[in-house]
Amino acid sequence: MQPLIQLQEVSKTYPMPGGDVHALRRVSLEVEAGEFVSVVGTSGSGKTTLLYLLGLLTTPSGGRYRLGDRPVEELSDRERSAIRGREVGFVFQSFHLIPQLDLLDNVLLASRYARRARPVSFREEARGLIERVGLGHRIRHRPGELSGGEMQRVAIARALLGGPSLILADEPTGNIDQENGKQIFDLLQSLCDEGRTIILVTHDLALARRAGRRIHLRDGEVDDAAA
Ligand code: ADP
Ligand code: MG
Repeated sequence: MQPLIQLQEVSKTYPMPGGDVHALRRVSLEVEAGEFVSVVGTSGSGKTTLLYLLGLLTTPSGGRYRLGDRPVEELSDRERSAIRGREVGFVFQSFHLIPQLDLLDNVLLASRYARRARPVSFREEARGLIERVGLGHRIRHRPGELSGGEMQRVAIARALLGGPSLILADEPTGNIDQENGKQIFDLLQSLCDEGRTIILVTHDLALARRAGRRIHLRDGEVDDAAA
């Protein structure tokens, strides 16, 4: 079986007035389907850029990226966004929930992006996911009535709608206390145990160590010595 993710000398450069910013430099790595990988590195080392590349939110400036058996460079924008909607779930540090909507509608927002072959009720699926993250009793509450840890659980439920196989989480525990951070990690671990692939960017070394494998970024490069 080939790896789910194969990056070969991938670079990402942002041209800026003061000169090019090399966010990623010739990064090569492979991730097998079903792995739980953590990504660590100081601020500005390229972690978010790497997640955006992996999730097809941005394209490499150089190098090759294969996702499954598809060379990402050769896909159209439309094909890339279709794959992203079907196969990738994102979780962000700042939750990105809509304050005016209740939990159910927040989770359902993702269904505008998720596409799938067979029609299934997104509403039923969303209810199930909210129950799964332990918030079934608050389904009609708004995000402002929840703690940070609860909001992040809602964001994870939203990321799961449509059944993506790849979950990309960018410092999901960055805005919540340690105990709730552990819960978020355990939730991600249970998703991995079901066969999903998890890539977790985190500043929390204790959490990072619990992942199956750690990738250390330094100044846009993978630092194998620090792994
Ligand atoms: P991290 O998530 O590890 O903090 P980022 O991937 O956000 O790092 O950023 C890596 C580098 O790329 C930083 O120097 C950052 O300033 C730069 N960068 C990120 N996004 C952009 C952008 N859209 N335009 C210009 N520079 C960017
Ligand atoms: Mg970042």
